[in-house]
Amino acid sequence: MKAKAKSAGAQPILAIDSEVVRQIRQHARSCNTTEVCGVLIGQDRDHRVEVAACIQGENAEGAGAHVTFTQDTWEHIYAVKDKRFPNERIVGWYHSHPGFGIFLSEHDTFIHKNFFSSPGQVAWVFDPHSDEEGCFGWTDGQIERLTRIAVVDRRGGERAEASVKDEPTVASTAEENAGPVPSSEPSPKPLRVQRLDVDDGDGGRSSLEQLVARVFFFLASAALGFVLCWQFFPHVVVMGVPIDPTTGQPLDPEMRQMLHDSQAGNAGNSEHPDLTKPGQPAAPDGRAKKGDDAKSR
Ligand SMILES: [Zn+2]
Repeated sequence: MKAKAKSAGAQPILAIDSEVVRQIRQHARSCNTTEVCGVLIGQDRDHRVEVAACIQGENAEGAGAHVTFTQDTWEHIYAVKDKRFPNERIVGWYHSHPGFGIFLSEHDTFIHKNFFSSPGQVAWVFDPHSDEEGCFGWTDGQIERLTRIAVVDRRGGERAEASVKDEPTVASTAEENAGPVPSSEPSPKPLRVQRLDVDDGDGGRSSLEQLVARVFFFLASAALGFVLCWQFFPHVVVMGVPIDPTTGQPLDPEMRQMLHDSQAGNAGNSEHPDLTKPGQPAAPDGRAKKGDDAKSR
């Protein structure tokens, strides 16, 4: 067993609380150009490192690719640890690599060898530019990148149970209460989810349809109103009339006549155009009559 553990389980398993991961990310993003650092708090048992909390390394000297735990940093870390985590251990450290990826530099390796040399101590690295993260630990006296990392969601205990409840309907691994329940429980659950989805979809679709319908209704009513106004209210119609440039009179004889009539009407009484009309339109006739008269004379 021991030999097997040495060969297969040489690399420690890391179980880190999701809240710690979140806090490290937050700390790293607070200084987007300089490295930040801190220590990891938890337990280390049988090749399993459990990280339950972290302490920010204040007064740490971060300069580009270097971060250094100063005397002040350690004093602050131990003060916080003694006060808040008296029964926990320092199981490693974390620092940020703003923009240069996940690895341990020579300086980082120096820090790890000198301050975190216990086999159960790890080095967590987070790049706030790429949101990449990784962890390094001791494997047979060498520092290697860990391949077995579990992010534990402690607050999500209920969520984990919920996911387990969902799983048995598909998976064959029946958990404690999966036996009697599945026939009644799984059917309403997906239905409820489906209903929610459908409701959401319908809501989104109907609101979009309503918007489109409103816009069309508005445009249609505006067009109808325009047509009605055009029909029932007086308006000026501008028409192109071909005009003889030499005389300034319309080329079309009918138009000339109409223009003539309207001018005559405007000049006289507009309400009784008939009274003035006889004089003008009768002109040709009058001339003819005159001619006749003259002839007769
Ligand atoms: Zn580094």
